[in-house]
Amino acid sequence: MIAQNDCEWHDMTSHPGLAGVQARVDAAAKAAGRAPGSVRLVAVSKTFAATELVPVLNAGQRRFGENRVQEADEKWPELRARSAGIELHLIGPLQSNKVRRAVALFDVIETLDREKIAAAIAREAAAAGRCPALFIQVNTGEEPQKAGIVSADLDDFVARMRRDYQLPVQGLMCIPPAQEEPSLHFAQLAKLAARNGLDNLSMGMSADFEVAIAFGATHVRVGSAIFGARG
Ligand SMILES: *Cc1c(COP(=O)(O)O)cnc(C)c1O
Repeated sequence: MIAQNDCEWHDMTSHPGLAGVQARVDAAAKAAGRAPGSVRLVAVSKTFAATELVPVLNAGQRRFGENRVQEADEKWPELRARSAGIELHLIGPLQSNKVRRAVALFDVIETLDREKIAAAIAREAAAAGRCPALFIQVNTGEEPQKAGIVSADLDDFVARMRRDYQLPVQGLMCIPPAQEEPSLHFAQLAKLAARNGLDNLSMGMSADFEVAIAFGATHVRVGSAIFGARG
């Protein structure tokens, strides 16, 4: 059970990990000549228990990322009841049998990557009367084990999402290959977004979010630099 706190905005307590990352985000935005607040921090809370998230909520963070629908469903309804204004992002793969729950739970699904899931999201969103914002995951490194649309197929996929499903596609997301220089992938994602008229770029994690900000990230997904190493 999570303790209720009626006046969290009055006794906001700083969280060192969060404050450190937020300061680095702001400094990287400034260094890139970008407006303060133009980069949004998605605190990746996967694997951390609700009790470990409370200090970060108490420090004022409201945007979080989870990579599994079931784990999010176990943690977030109670945290949401406790803290207003939560914006929850799905940053892991979505299976058809989890789409209904994902549409109910998440504000942003960052991992749209195939037509079958698009059809299911459109159907469930119509039934629920609400549709999360959608980002398309792009497999910029063309890695066989990784989800995402390959760059060569992206323009066509975006067009079909808009024309055939009327889905609210608002941005692109990528996870560069672990062993490669991420900036090439960030530059490519920015180029793909610009030519498709998409304003949001989710790219950059603990190891490389400052580079991603230099290449135009609007959303950085940062876990371990805030919460510590995952067990
Ligand atoms: C876990 C995860 C992150 C955060 O990774 P850190 O290195 O802990 O910052 C970001 N994006 C995705 C898709 C993830 O699965």
